[in-house]
Amino acid sequence: MTKYKKLSKGRSVTIPKDIAAHLNLNAGDAVDLTAAGNGDLIIRRHLEPCRFCGGTENIKRFGDISICPLCATKMYQEVCG
Ligand SMILES: [Zn+2]
Repeated sequence: MTKYKKLSKGRSVTIPKDIAAHLNLNAGDAVDLTAAGNGDLIIRRHLEPCRFCGGTENIKRFGDISICPLCATKMYQEVCG
């Protein structure tokens, strides 16, 4: 899904409703902007890294803590094992 958009005077861009809905992006969500080496601008949903190891794969939220499955498993074993 690709849409053509022009930047505003402040260089802002609005994500079209259908794309936002498709990606479940909502007002207030954070995104990461990356300038790729080939000149592309990449916009990705911002993912908080795991608070314990810094990983970014399969992050889950537990209250206000972001945690990866590996650290969650280690924590479970420490606390309950
Ligand atoms: Zn982790």
